Amino acid sequence: MRQVVILGSTGSIGVSTLSVLAQHSQSFQVLALTAASQVDKLLAQCLQFKPRYAAMFDAKAAAELSFQLKQAGSTTEVLSGHAALCQLAGHPDADIVMAAIVGAAGLLPTLAAVEQGKTVLLANKEALVMTGELFINKVKQHGATLLPIDSEHNAIFQCLPAALQQHTHDQRIQDFGISKLLLTGSGGPFLTTPLAQFDAITPAQAVAHPNWSMGQKISVDSATMMNKGLEFIEARWLFNCAADDIEVVIHPQSIIHSMVQYTDGSILAQLGQPDMRTPIAHALAFPGRMASPVAPLNFKQLRDFTFTEPEPERYPNLYLAIEACRAGQGATTALNAANEVAVAAFLAGQIRFTDIARVNSACLTQFVGFRASALDDIVALDQQARQSAQDTLRKLA
Ligand code: NAD
Ligand code: MG
Repeated sequence: MRQVVILGSTGSIGVSTLSVLAQHSQSFQVLALTAASQVDKLLAQCLQFKPRYAAMFDAKAAAELSFQLKQAGSTTEVLSGHAALCQLAGHPDADIVMAAIVGAAGLLPTLAAVEQGKTVLLANKEALVMTGELFINKVKQHGATLLPIDSEHNAIFQCLPAALQQHTHDQRIQDFGISKLLLTGSGGPFLTTPLAQFDAITPAQAVAHPNWSMGQKISVDSATMMNKGLEFIEARWLFNCAADDIEVVIHPQSIIHSMVQYTDGSILAQLGQPDMRTPIAHALAFPGRMASPVAPLNFKQLRDFTFTEPEPERYPNLYLAIEACRAGQGATTALNAANEVAVAAFLAGQIRFTDIARVNSACLTQFVGFRASALDDIVALDQQARQSAQDTLRKLA
């Protein structure tokens, strides 16, 4: 029995993870479930999966959860606060930690799992984008195993030679005959929307992704293609490569989840339904395989299978992220912070869809030359960039 901790169990990835685990209760046990503040959802999950621990970021929500669990006769122990999330992520009995908190809030709990040498299933791409080299160095230093959950990175990982899969952080992809990583993206809901209509895009339109069902923040990031930009930076760190080794291709059907191009002209791709339970099952079972609730593709029903290039005017955020990736760690930390502030403001109805790129661009211009490698410096830079993004928001309002 492998013991699993889920950071962010009430979110889209958390729920998908539990759906896979429910099918494999003879091999995996849920040690801990954690969430921000959604009591009802975490309560139902605790009653179904009977974890030893549950933790909530919000203290009042934790107290409510504890009360409800006791009423229901549950023995799950409830903890609260950020320190509790870190404690559970590094719990001595945990084998696998699913890092599925959204945004910078997930950084320290994810690092806590890395520092205890756990098998870390990484969905929380912002944590890696924020800290890059520091994150990967900790993985190496503590002998942690880092497996990508993001569907593109999971696809690329599956297309790598087995010898490279064991050492993605310290080998060069070129030494394995790889010439390029091809990152596919759907282009989001506004792939064909006339640019003149972009100012009027509402949060409800932006979160309605054509292929994937996801949390709000990543859905907006998919609409701006900042998500692909963050994934570009994520790929640079996960696969120890340079910006020049990565190319973004729009593939609106989301059937190919990404590809690896070899020097002999071969391109290997991973295909499947756009359903996160496939990469989750892959990572849980790695290096083996196990069933997931996802049906295989039916090629008799597949019609269009198309590819285009992302237009810079349509997706300025993608190009800001690539620029930041080339500039270095300070730039990527600052851009990620600005984007979290901008997306939250857009979802709250404070700025227009097109303002997200304005906030991000202003912040990148300000911090592009910054360097930050120690954790304290990175966290300080993240805070400075958030302040700067707030200043831009005030100017836009
Ligand atoms: P979501 O918004 O649906 O869920 C986020 C989870 O994080 C919730 O359980 C929430 O309670 C928890 N959380 C939020 N703030 C917290 C805090 N301060 N402390 C503790 N917990 C907190 O998000 P999601 O779509 O599941 O995405 C999670 C992560 O996975 C993101 O980083 C996203 O980029 C990545 N990801 C998601 C998908 C997807 O299909 N949803 C695909 C690839 C990558
Ligand atoms: Mg992805």
